[in-house]
Amino acid sequence: MDAQAIIATVRGWVSQAQRIVVLTGAGISTDSGIPDFRGPQGVWTRNPQAEKQSTLQNYLSDEAVRRAAWRGRLEHPAWSARPNAGHDALVALEQSGRLHALITQNIDELHQIAGNSPERLIEVHGTIRRVMCWQCQRRQPMTDVLERVRAGETDPRCQDCGGILKSDTISFGQALVPEVIERAFTVAGEADLLLAIGSTLQVQPVAGVVPTASRAGARVVILNAEPTACDNLADAVLRGPIGELLPAICSDVRLV
Ligand SMILES: [Zn+2]
Repeated sequence: MDAQAIIATVRGWVSQAQRIVVLTGAGISTDSGIPDFRGPQGVWTRNPQAEKQSTLQNYLSDEAVRRAAWRGRLEHPAWSARPNAGHDALVALEQSGRLHALITQNIDELHQIAGNSPERLIEVHGTIRRVMCWQCQRRQPMTDVLERVRAGETDPRCQDCGGILKSDTISFGQALVPEVIERAFTVAGEADLLLAIGSTLQVQPVAGVVPTASRAGARVVILNAEPTACDNLADAVLRGPIGELLPAICSDVRLV
């Protein structure tokens, strides 16, 4: 089958499905100006040292790592990023009543900004728009802490307890939140169609939602620019720009 025929087939599956579960990775946000990690121009492909430095252990034990991290957060591309046509297609999917859940590995909140409801979202790697204190677990908006960094604090501490602050994201070496990842696996087992979008499906355990959905009888469709670790499980694989492919496979539900 050529690409157009596969798109037409998948479009039919999308319009017939009742409980679509979507898993998104960095590839859906690259069109919004947020670089991915493992693609050809990815953050870690270009700078493998950055991956090592971003471990939780280094962050908690080394003030220099925290200072560098806060400088990086000030300039994070998420602050100016806007949702793109791929995000908008998933809002249309939700409005059509077919979206059971949206699992995301992204920390940019572009799905919420685009208009997906928070109740449908499962953020397995947390969000950069929030900060957590490692001592008292208090959470607060990132914008409040970035204000302090702009005002000159290089390693801002919790104003309640003096604890170390970190973005409320899952760093390397940090455990996932058990209830969140469990919920991702539960919804994957309830899907009749799973769309895996913009993820290389290499990061465990979240990539495990693909075989989980497949075993439960869901159709599996993979959209990614590069081959993924789960292509062998897919009923259809679409390779190309997500900002074009995703609106194309959702175009029928927009009309309903
Ligand atoms: Zn605290």
